[in-house]
Amino acid sequence: MVGKLTSARKKVLLAGGGHAHIVALGKLQARCAESLDITLISPQPRTWYSGALPGAIAGHWPSDAVATNVASLCQTKGVGFRQGTIVHLDADGKSVTLDSGEIEHFDLLSLDVGSVTRPLAVLSGMPNAVNVRPIPEFVERLDQAFGKAVEHGSLDIVLIGAGLAGLEIALALSYRMSNTPGLHERSITIVEGAETILPIGPRALRGALMRALRRAGIAVLTGTQVTGHRDDQISLSTGQSLRPHLVINCTGAAAHAWIAESGLHTTNGFVDVDACLRSVSHPDIWASGDTSHFTRKPVPPAGVFAVRAGSILAANLCSYADGDELTEYDPQTDYLKLVSLGAKRAIAEKFGVAVSLPGLWYLKRRIDFSFLHSHAFPARD
Ligand SMILES: Cc1cc2nc3c(=O)[nH]c(=O)nc-3n(C[C@H](O)[C@H](O)[C@H](O)COP(=O)(O)OP(=O)(O)OC[C@H]3O[C@@H](n4cnc5c(N)ncnc54)[C@H](O)[C@@H]3O)c2cc1C
Repeated sequence: MVGKLTSARKKVLLAGGGHAHIVALGKLQARCAESLDITLISPQPRTWYSGALPGAIAGHWPSDAVATNVASLCQTKGVGFRQGTIVHLDADGKSVTLDSGEIEHFDLLSLDVGSVTRPLAVLSGMPNAVNVRPIPEFVERLDQAFGKAVEHGSLDIVLIGAGLAGLEIALALSYRMSNTPGLHERSITIVEGAETILPIGPRALRGALMRALRRAGIAVLTGTQVTGHRDDQISLSTGQSLRPHLVINCTGAAAHAWIAESGLHTTNGFVDVDACLRSVSHPDIWASGDTSHFTRKPVPPAGVFAVRAGSILAANLCSYADGDELTEYDPQTDYLKLVSLGAKRAIAEKFGVAVSLPGLWYLKRRIDFSFLHSHAFPARD
């Protein structure tokens, strides 16, 4: 157990190595890092950049290429790195508990621990079901499924949730299946409870994505709920049952349970923050990215908002060290969505207008990898 604070320097804990913290570390000025005692806590030294994940699933680049080495980034910035998973936060007592049982106290805590996949009780205990998050476990389970499929010559996947992430993953899986030798029988079925794909996503993309799903031979069951499972078989609200090799839960983002229990003011478990990204109930706790609920102008969970928040966070850490006023965050109202279609093609949407042009996939690749190269380091354990 780590005792109460003794350092003269303010102790700052950065919880999670998400997009916001990676950007904040990249921009952190040396004099600020020196005047604070900063430690980043992350379950692994590598963290994943989700925008480039569908390309890794499709096999366009190795999965290692889309993980960044946050531990090395900390080292070059004079920031401590602590490997561990936070399992409890005492907002009033200003401490976090790690999965090892150790307790870390802080003067200032910044939360950027992302979100978890919304749990689906009907899949509980199902051996062949996996959540999209945490990403490392998901990628490992996919690799295992493809490994076994090559031995047996068949692979059937059910993916639950037809949001943007689910559709990109399904199309990437289809591309990988068609490029995996020896897979004689294969199928992908998307199950979506709403009556349409992208129920809360950009409507302008629906038509183009439906066409892409059809071209890829992906079955789409909308208006359909998963109602239960027995061993490796799932039953649907339509009366059908399916026996896939793998069931992927991609039903959207939910908050970490330990945040809801922390004493922080939250909305649906996401930390309510003010314009400076401070908790509205505990100003010494900050939150950004998917972990936060920006009360002034709520934004959807998307990496682009986490990245922008990271720049504000870097400035505010220095203001905190200097005792200056904090900078306010003003998220943009919309952002360019580039959605990959499995093969080297992509479509784009902004302000309700969708376009499909040759070269968009290469633009997406350039944006994703320029982020990876400019803010972090190649992943090496
Ligand atoms: C397949 C897919 C594709 C996507 N594509 C896009 C896209 O193209 N564009 C876009 O804008 N958004 C995209 N998103 C959404 C995007 O992934 C998230 O909005 C973004 O990752 C949020 O960033 P973040 O900084 O909040 O957290 P994350 O990047 O999720 O990082 C959170 C970090 O916290 C760590 N962590 C988790 N729990 C704990 C804990 N208990 N203790 C300590 N550390 C912890 C995790 O290991 C992780 O490294 C996509 C999502 C998915 C699933």
